[in-house]
Amino acid sequence: MDRRTALLRFAGLALIGLTDISSLVAKPLNATGRRKNSFHQFKLGELDLMVVSDGRIVMKPVQPNFAPGVNSRLVEQELERNFAPTDHIELGINILVIKSKDRTILLDSGCGANFGELSGGLIKNLQKADINPDDVTDVMITHAHPDHIGGLIGTDNQLLFPKAKVYLSRIEHDFWLSEKPDFSKSKLTDQRLIKFVIDVAKKNINALGEKLHLFEDGDTLLDCITMQLAPGHTPGHCVAKIFSNRESLYHIADLVHSAVLVVAHPEWGFEGDSNFNQAVQTRRKVMNELAESRSLIFSYHLPWPGLGHVRKKGNAFEWVQQIAMVPD
Ligand SMILES: [Zn+2]
Repeated sequence: MDRRTALLRFAGLALIGLTDISSLVAKPLNATGRRKNSFHQFKLGELDLMVVSDGRIVMKPVQPNFAPGVNSRLVEQELERNFAPTDHIELGINILVIKSKDRTILLDSGCGANFGELSGGLIKNLQKADINPDDVTDVMITHAHPDHIGGLIGTDNQLLFPKAKVYLSRIEHDFWLSEKPDFSKSKLTDQRLIKFVIDVAKKNINALGEKLHLFEDGDTLLDCITMQLAPGHTPGHCVAKIFSNRESLYHIADLVHSAVLVVAHPEWGFEGDSNFNQAVQTRRKVMNELAESRSLIFSYHLPWPGLGHVRKKGNAFEWVQQIAMVPD
């Protein structure tokens, strides 16, 4: 694989010189008919919830980002059957915002300046929803990949949510700050890309100082979020159960990145998982639980606004998008 192809694969654009970025960043697919609003509001018990977009990521080509090693004709057929393009997969970047009486909580921080012009719009879009960076009291980080933690700091390392406490699992913290984070069980082998991912994690975590709060598996935080370890995508990757009164919602973070390829084929997997086989097992286990409990799910990367359910289909699953009847 040549350099250009390798870089396009993860849209890991920040690690190269600025001069050729514009030619590498995939252009918007269709500028017409895009949503005017960049947020979606709903209630969960006493809580006001909102989904705010950070933008999107285009992963091109499909393999080996997705389904590494799987027969490419099978993958193409599955995409075609679902009326999806076969040359790329587009990922949403959906940020969940929780507003309670005295707190404004973000679940992850988006890409920041790390992935080019298609993403990094979180602060601008929060402001459209009347939320300023200073209003944010807490940021819960599901895992420390650059599209989740990269929006904590600006290009000169300043905190973009200066008043917020930031929560990260201790396992995740220890993994990324270790001398040599272990990628030996990952299918990702591009050393420059691995270095980029490690560098962004370290830089953002190290900038936090006393704002950083480490949590353990199963901890309930801020009286409305229980963080549950779901390892494989990264060692400390967590899903979050958000609850109020008797209602709940499961934020599944990066358990899946594509409904067509990963929800429907959990074992086809995702190259960026730090432990490929463990991620497959975790994905099956969590989706099985969510299907059986008929839980409402929020997904960081599935189509806007990321709300829906999974149900069993044969030996796998299917994503059922929650449809909004009227625009926001
Ligand atoms: Zn992600």
